[in-house]
Amino acid sequence: LVETSYNRIKEVDDEVHAFLTLDEENAIEKARELDRETNKSNKLFGIPSGIKDNIVTKALRTTCGSQFLRNFEDPLYNATVVEKLNAENAVTIGKLNMDEFAMGSSNENSSYTPTRNPWNTDYVPGGSSGGSAAAVAAGEVLFSLGSDTGGSIRQPAAFCGVVGLKPTYGLVSRFGLVAFASSLDQIGPLTRSVEDNARVLEVIAGHDKMDSTSANVDIPEYTKSLTGDVKGLKIAVPKEYLAEGVNPEVREAVMRALKVYESLGATWEEVSLPHSKYAVATYYLISSSEASANLARFDGVRYGVRSENADNMMDMFKKSRSEGFGEEVKRRIMLGTFALSSGYYDAYYKKAQQVRTLIKNDFDKIFENYDVVIGPTTPTPAFKVGEKIDDPLTMYANDILTIPVNLAGVPGISVPCGLSEEGLPIGLQIIGKHFDEGTVYRTAHAFE
Ligand code: GLN
Repeated sequence: LVETSYNRIKEVDDEVHAFLTLDEENAIEKARELDRETNKSNKLFGIPSGIKDNIVTKALRTTCGSQFLRNFEDPLYNATVVEKLNAENAVTIGKLNMDEFAMGSSNENSSYTPTRNPWNTDYVPGGSSGGSAAAVAAGEVLFSLGSDTGGSIRQPAAFCGVVGLKPTYGLVSRFGLVAFASSLDQIGPLTRSVEDNARVLEVIAGHDKMDSTSANVDIPEYTKSLTGDVKGLKIAVPKEYLAEGVNPEVREAVMRALKVYESLGATWEEVSLPHSKYAVATYYLISSSEASANLARFDGVRYGVRSENADNMMDMFKKSRSEGFGEEVKRRIMLGTFALSSGYYDAYYKKAQQVRTLIKNDFDKIFENYDVVIGPTTPTPAFKVGEKIDDPLTMYANDILTIPVNLAGVPGISVPCGLSEEGLPIGLQIIGKHFDEGTVYRTAHAFE
């Protein structure tokens, strides 16, 4: 399997550009060792996987898609999720391309090279986990890990026609995930099927004392919830999720999916998430504020590349950051620093936190009467490379349907639900109650 994975990468990755770093020698050696193993009972025994490049891998280069970390060749430890995959004998094939520090929706903010959509390389794969989605869609690995702060697992999964889950905030340890916005970030699996997804989540979920926001909850066997039975399931469909701005082809694909659920004995009703129209503004204030604090650690001293043109220490900080970060990252740091500055804090950051609570309350209220919320993952299928990159606000608006889920902390999955006329995948988003990944998977699997 591991050899097949590298052969496939050699065949297609010159076009797809899903990988930033490969670990071929070590992976092949590990696979040979596993071949000699007599007890092959582990959950992910010998399964080739790819890891998004903001998840730290011991002695394997971890760049976050940034020039700042192009020389971060030798991290000293593994993220908890990587330790957990290793414990089940999954094999890491390499590190996957992404928008720099996970800021972006198209992979065009990677400071290396943009990943392309394997369905049609004129189109973006989505982002920021574009490499993670493209690698699975192109058959280069059997599963990958991504991270999702405002849609970065679900949106690329939708664009590339694979299954991607953002777990409940706190379900999966963030230890070793390079922080973008700590109150929103979650790691999750991207796979070809719902069953594979549930299997990987079973392995990576669970309490971790190294992450103070990790929840101490029992991890069920998610694969056991894949019964195919959704009789009596109560589905809420927010009218804001099918409003204008959502492409008609996407709307039709979602309506077809709802018909399938009806035929399986589920019922659906239209509901409202009245505060979702504030979600994008709220998200960009909160996530940029947190990013401005988290990215302060990149100073040219502790990590990454140090500027060679500096005369003194302050100059060195300034030049290392000016040279190391790309345009989008600088934009977010400036926005976040502004929103947190005294005099503006109450008007922007504090207000955004208050609206975040309203958005969460909208979901809580719906979940008093319904089991899941269903809508599209994205307003449109994948867009063309270059189409939105010069207009950050249009790019931000693409995340309008995924962002509320992160702000509320609830789980959400994207599953393929059809193709557009141009032959590009469309994603169906299924959102569940906190820690109710079981129902999310059951609902997704019944449709698949
Ligand atoms: N596209 C969003 C952003 O640019 C989401 C990114 C993410 O989820 N990491 O912030």
